[in-house]
Amino acid sequence: MTGTTGAHAGRHLITAYVSGDTTLPADAEWALEAHLENCAPCRRRVAEAVATHTPAVNTLLDDVWAALDATALGRPAPARTPLLREVRRWAPPSQLPWLLMSVLVALSALGIDMLARGKDVPSLVLLLSPVVPLLGVAAAWTRRLDPMSELTVTTPRAGLRMVLRRTAVVLGVVIPVLAVAGGVVGVSPALCLLPCLAFTVGTLALGTVTGVRHAAVLLGTAWVLGVIVPSLFTARVSVLLAPQSLPAWGLAVTVSAVAITVRARAFTTLPGRELP
Ligand SMILES: [Zn+2]
Repeated sequence: MTGTTGAHAGRHLITAYVSGDTTLPADAEWALEAHLENCAPCRRRVAEAVATHTPAVNTLLDDVWAALDATALGRPAPARTPLLREVRRWAPPSQLPWLLMSVLVALSALGIDMLARGKDVPSLVLLLSPVVPLLGVAAAWTRRLDPMSELTVTTPRAGLRMVLRRTAVVLGVVIPVLAVAGGVVGVSPALCLLPCLAFTVGTLALGTVTGVRHAAVLLGTAWVLGVIVPSLFTARVSVLLAPQSLPAWGLAVTVSAVAITVRARAFTTLPGRELP
């Protein structure tokens, strides 16, 4: 494995990360961030690397502090409601636009389904339901989309717990929307929601090997090319979305959940190397 020294991140990897090296693979970046969450020595090395390699950032921070000190004196601290604090603990603000996009995709599918009512075409809500949450799940783990990621990774939270928390937020938003949309167009709630759950849990399970973002892209593309496109061409819903496939989806959820539990450490491990 390149980039690590023993169980810790190597200097080369940390330098590349701090200097915003664009050739650094997204998976290495993601794994380093997950590792930083639980490793104080590596967080300290990142802080040192920032001071050495990007002095401009340090100067900028010093200037900001000086400006803040000058203006903030005598003003009350901004009031944060406990509710807002709790919301931010569960999801980074950068996840919000992607969640809204998921909701928009589901609502667009609902609109098209309602326009096509009475015609003999497969329901778009049904076809899209497995991949709708993947946008939000992938966005939760892409540093380029999360301007606060450097701050997030320095907080002491366990890797898997953070993954599950962010995924729960996505499902908490997407499931009610899909359930209502499915209800409006008359699709069975189980057929809408079980594949959606299976794809989400499956993405995390596959993500322990490939990185969550790659897993989401891989599964999403496979579903679009393997099921959505053929269904639209033949105007017949795939057998995968027929009621008799429900047990298979249930099995997929169970197997993926077990895989995540078994490989939970992958979320705090750098690629290719297990931590002791
Ligand atoms: Zn470390």
